[in-house]
Formats: sequence, C-alpha cells, structure tokens
Amino acid sequence: MSDGERSRYRIAPKFGDMDPAEFRAAAHEVADMAANYLDRLESFPVLPDITPGSIRAQLPAGPPARPEALDAILSDYSRLIEPNITHWQHPGFMAYFSSVASGPGILGEWLASVLNSNVMVWRNAPASTELEEVVVSWLRQMVGLPDVFDGMFTDTASVSSLLALVAARHAVPGLDARDEGLAGRPEIGRLRVYCSTEAHFSIHKAAVVAGIGKAGIRLIPADEQFAMRAEALADAVVQDRRDGWWPFFVTATVGTTSSTGIDPVGAIADICARERLWLHVDAAYGGAAALVSAYRPHFNGWERADSIVVNPHKWMFTPFDASLLLFRKPELFRDAFRLVPEYLRTGEAPTVHNFNEYGIQLGRRFRALKMWMLIRYFGAEGMADRIRENCRQARELAAWIDADPDWERLAPVPFGTVCLRHRSAALASSAEEPEVLARLNARNAAILERVNQSGKIFLSHTALRGRYTIRVSIGNPRTRMEHVRLCWDLLRDAASLTAA
Ligand code: PLP
Repeated sequence: MSDGERSRYRIAPKFGDMDPAEFRAAAHEVADMAANYLDRLESFPVLPDITPGSIRAQLPAGPPARPEALDAILSDYSRLIEPNITHWQHPGFMAYFSSVASGPGILGEWLASVLNSNVMVWRNAPASTELEEVVVSWLRQMVGLPDVFDGMFTDTASVSSLLALVAARHAVPGLDARDEGLAGRPEIGRLRVYCSTEAHFSIHKAAVVAGIGKAGIRLIPADEQFAMRAEALADAVVQDRRDGWWPFFVTATVGTTSSTGIDPVGAIADICARERLWLHVDAAYGGAAALVSAYRPHFNGWERADSIVVNPHKWMFTPFDASLLLFRKPELFRDAFRLVPEYLRTGEAPTVHNFNEYGIQLGRRFRALKMWMLIRYFGAEGMADRIRENCRQARELAAWIDADPDWERLAPVPFGTVCLRHRSAALASSAEEPEVLARLNARNAAILERVNQSGKIFLSHTALRGRYTIRVSIGNPRTRMEHVRLCWDLLRDAASLTAA
C-alpha cells in the first residue's frame, strides 16, 4: 500500500482482538485471494525463480513495534510470499509425493482454526474428540480394514511411526523402558528393529529417538522389485537372537519412497507372528490406493499388523498436516504414553478418548474437521475415482516410456509414481559399465534440471541401484492427462537438448 492510499481496514485497537465486522470484511478478502490463487495456479512457475536469501532480504529483520495496516500485510503476502513458494497445489508438481489441499479440505482447515479446538482431552474438546473417533473409523472402513483397529490423527508419518515404535518397545516383556529407561541396565539385551533397505528414513529417526540407535536397525535387502526379501528377514531374526539381540519391531512398507515398492506384508506378518515381533505397516503414501478395491491385493496381510500409518496429507487431498495412525491394541499406546497431571483429571475419563494419552503431544490440532468435510464432499467413491485416475495417468506415462527405446523405466508402477531415466538405445548393452553409468547419471540430472527450469513441471529424483532416477509422481486431482503429456514432452525435449 502506498503512503497516499487509505487503508480499507482499521489499525488494531489498543486492546482486544480484531473487531468482528473488520474480521468479516478481511475474511471475504482473504477468501477471494485464496480462490484467485487456486484459479491462477498454472500462471505460476511451479518452482519460483529465486535465489536463497532473496526473500529474507526483503523482510525487516525485527518485528514491527506498532500495529500495521492489514492492507499492507495482505499486499506483502501477495507480493512476497504467494509467488515465491514452490507451488505444491500446481497440477505440474510431480516431485516427491504430492501433498494437495482440496477446496473442501481448505475450508475445513479454516474452520478448525476459527474454533481453535485443542483436542487434548474430551472435556476440552468434546465434539472434536468424537468427530476424530468417527473420521478415523470412516477412513479405516474406506481402506478396507477390520474394526479391530482403533486410531487417531498425528501430524506426520514420522511421528506416527515413532509412536508405534515406542508402543512396541513398551510391549517387550521384561524391558519396562517407560519406567526404567534403557541405559545402564546390564540385564537387558540390545533392541533390534527391522526394515528394508528401501524403507523411509523416518523409521531410522524413530529408532534414534526411541533409544534403539542407528546401530539397532538391521536393514533387510530388497529384491528386483524393491520389495523386502521375507526369507532374509526370517534369517536375520534367527541370527540376531543367537547373537544376543532382542528383536521386537518390523516395518513393512507398502509404497516405498523411492520406487513405490511393496513389501510382502503377508509373508512378513507370518514371520512376525512366529517370532512374536510387532508388525508396523508404513503405508504413508500407498495407503490411499487402498481406497480403490482393485488395489487392495497390494495390501494383503496388513490387516494382521499391530500398527499402520496412512497419510491423508499425501494422497487424500488433505491440507497438510494429517497422518492416520491405526493400532490394534490402543491400551498399549495408552500404557506407553499416559501421564495424567492433576489439572487434566476429569470425571469422564474412563468412558471417553483423551487423545493426548496415546501419544507425545498434549495439545493437538483438530484435524478431523477437514477430513470429515472433504470425505463428505467427495464421497468415498469420489475419492477412490480420483486415486484411480492418477494411477491410470501414471500407467499411461509408463506405457509411453516402455514404447520408446531411448528411455528406460526403472521400477514397477503399482500406484501413481513412475521411475525412469534416459538411456539411448545405443547404450542399452553398456549402460551398467561404470564409466557409461556415470555419464548417464550426469545426463539424467541435467535433464531433470532442464525440465524443472521450464517452470511448468517440477520433478524430483532418487537413486535406484546406483542409477540416477527421475521420479514422476502423479497425485493431484487437478492433474489432467494434458499435464502428463506435457511432462513427457518436456522430458524428451530436455533429453534432445542435453549433451550426451
Ligand atoms: N513413509 C513413507 C513411505 C514416506 O514416503 C514418507 C514421506 O514421503 C514418510 C514415511 C514420512 O512422511 P511425513 O512427512 O508425514 O513424516
């Protein structure tokens, strides 16, 4: 706002909050800004063309001492913030895994912040607590899991998996880590956690935080399809027991981060049952595909898990954040985490969920509201249709890659993510020779960079068996086939412009 312009809003009053009439006017303006943003998404380059530090340099180093006009604040938002984010909502954002906020989800998020309901105990959040119970149950039904599972929302899969690991640790007979800790106890063995070489690093972080340590993780090799070798897991557990370890926790992943590989959950569940190990299923990404009944076979065996994580904020059109943690024995989580100070003792306690008792956080966001609104808005079938469409788009891209001798698909495509690299037909037989591989890796990195510079599509990369791998992850309901076609065209153009 320039000096000459009059502010449309009054400066903050000396005491109290914003005046309700003022709030109403501003909320209408913000609603228009939000709708305009979503309407104009494709006018933004997915990746902003900025250098590190350039935004910070335009912001005052210290806070304003006196109130500022809301017009000025909103105008700075429009000028500095909105255009300079990486646009996760853009249909050309195909990097990492999508994390898309749908219209009804955004409305729910707004209303949740209006209510500011802190879902600690039932007494201070009755409707929010009960809505969370209902929505957790809806989601459980939508992904086809039996009602033996209870659950709750957390912020992220990283935290959901950490909670599962701590609950599993609590269930280890004779350990009593909750009361006794782990250090300085010669009578206990070293705890052992298993996951595949492809598992997400959040499992490693959980082990670090829970006192298992990185050395307590045993990585089980994966097969050609990037799925855990169940027989190697079985051997590892036997060997570890012989060597004095205390095996207790296995993570099976449905939809690994790099390649969307699928661990054989059924075979892993057999081993866990035989060896009395906790089975945690990380379906943070893949879980959304269980909304589609045709994809359920990928999940066979997860109904035998002790805990499961599915992230609605990844591929269920839910504004960040919302992670669904399902557990078979809620009382174990409660025993592992429950500490109730006098000021939180309430009469309803035996009959209600006091959600803070099942995890680390006392204060919890009201995440169920946005989920409730978007599930009702799209319907379970509508959500499944959107997931199915993203998977179809990915399969179509995979078919184009397979039909082009100069490109190579580097992993199966069970869901919405395609892993590929450029490898001209002439190099097919020598591609794994170290020198050629190094050249191919550099070339594909350059191709990726060129596509990202276009501003139309944003892709990310990984490494699969030493090969630089371009990942195209499709998980946005706004993404149409024309965007996938554009992505493919840009990849091929970039390859033709990139030196061999
Ligand atoms: N698990 C898998 C398979 C993932 O792909 C990811 C993130 O991409 C995570 C866990 C961690 O998710 P969050 O960011 O919710 O902690």
